Amino acid sequence: MPDIPFFNYPAIYKRYEAEFDAIFKDVCSRGAFILQRDLEEFETDLAGFLGVRHALGVADGTNAMFIGLKAHGIGPGDEVIIASHTYIATAAAVHMVGATPVFADIGEDYMMSAADAAKRVTPKTRAIMPTQLNGRCCNMDEIQALADAHGLLVFEDSAQGLGARFKGRCAGTFGRFGTLSFYPAKLLGCFGDGGAVMTNDDEVAEKLKLWRDHGRNDDGEVVAWGTNSRLDNLQAAFLKFRLGTYEEDMARRRQIAGMYEAAFRGHDKLHPPQGPSDGDHYDVYQNYEMAAEDRDGLRAALSDKGIRTIIQWAGTPVHWFDQLGYGRDKVTDLPKTDWFFDRCLMLPMHMALTDDDVNAVIDAVLGYYK
Ligand SMILES: *Cc1c(COP(=O)(O)O)cnc(C)c1O
Repeated sequence: MPDIPFFNYPAIYKRYEAEFDAIFKDVCSRGAFILQRDLEEFETDLAGFLGVRHALGVADGTNAMFIGLKAHGIGPGDEVIIASHTYIATAAAVHMVGATPVFADIGEDYMMSAADAAKRVTPKTRAIMPTQLNGRCCNMDEIQALADAHGLLVFEDSAQGLGARFKGRCAGTFGRFGTLSFYPAKLLGCFGDGGAVMTNDDEVAEKLKLWRDHGRNDDGEVVAWGTNSRLDNLQAAFLKFRLGTYEEDMARRRQIAGMYEAAFRGHDKLHPPQGPSDGDHYDVYQNYEMAAEDRDGLRAALSDKGIRTIIQWAGTPVHWFDQLGYGRDKVTDLPKTDWFFDRCLMLPMHMALTDDDVNAVIDAVLGYYK
C-alpha cells in the first residue's frame, strides 16, 4: 500500500541537507542574526525574481499584511473587501488594525470574484485585498477596474502566490503592497515562520521598513511607532539559496498539476481547478485544490489507501466562524463559497512526490467513482 503524505516536512531539509548545513555554519560563525547582509541579498534576489522595486523580509505573512495595512493608515471605520475562501490571517490582519473585513464570494476559478466584490462596496470601503490562492493570481484587470471605479486601494494577500502570474506579471506586485509567507509548507518554505512584504512605491517602502523595526530609521533613531516584525537573517540565508532553485520547483508543480488535470478534466463527479495552461494565467500550484462530489467518502477511501488529503482551512471559510460572530446560518450571501466548501479537497502536491505517487493518487480517485 502506498504511503503518500499530504506534505513531507523532513524532505525540505533532506533535499539540500549539505547546503543547508553549510549555510547554518557560515551564518552562525559570523554571528549574523538580525538585519544582516544575507537578508539584504535575499531581498534583492526576491525583488528581482518578482520584478518589484522593494521586497522586505518580515516575521511572517500575517505580519506582512498587518504592517502593510498600517502603512496605508487603514483603521477604525474602514472596510476592506476580502475573500471568505482565505486563511483566517487575512481577516485577522484587517481586524487587528481596527478595520472591518467584508467578504466577497468566489467565481468559477474559486478565486475572489470582482463582480461579486463590486456588490460589497460601501462609502466606508477603503481597499480590496484579494487572496492569490493556491499558487494562482486573480484576474487583476477586473480587480483594478473595480478599485479604480470606486477609488479603492488594492492590496494582495499573496502568501500562496510566489511566482504565479497574470499577463506575465507576478502576484504580489499589482497592489500598493503584496505579501508572502515562508511557512514551511508554502511554495518557498523556511525552517519556521517567515514572510515578506512587497511594494513598487518608495514612500510605502520607507514606512514598511519603519513598521518592521520599531519605527527606527537607518541611524537607529525612533521616528515613528512600529513593531518587531523582522525576518531572521539565518532564515533569509536559507531562503536565498532556495530561491535560486525555485524555477525547478515551479516547473515540477506545474507538471504534477498537468497529470491531475489530464486525468480529472471532464469527469462528471470532479471539478478540478484551472490547468497549467490557462490563457493569461500562469499557475504554480501551492495546492491542488478541487471540488469533488461525495467528497467525504472520497477522502475516507483515499485515506484507506494511505493517501493523505486535506480540506483547506480545516474545512471552514472565514464566514463560518461562529466564535468570531459569523456562522454558516448567519452569513448566507456567499453561495459559491458555501458550495465549494461542501466539496473542496486538496490532493498531495509537493516536491517529494514521485510520478508513481501521483499516478497512485489518480488511480485511487478515479477508482472511487467506478
Ligand atoms: C499562510 C497564509 C497566510 C499567513 O502566513 P503566515 O506566514 O503563516 O503568517 C496568510 N494568507 C494565506 C492565504 C496563507 O495561505
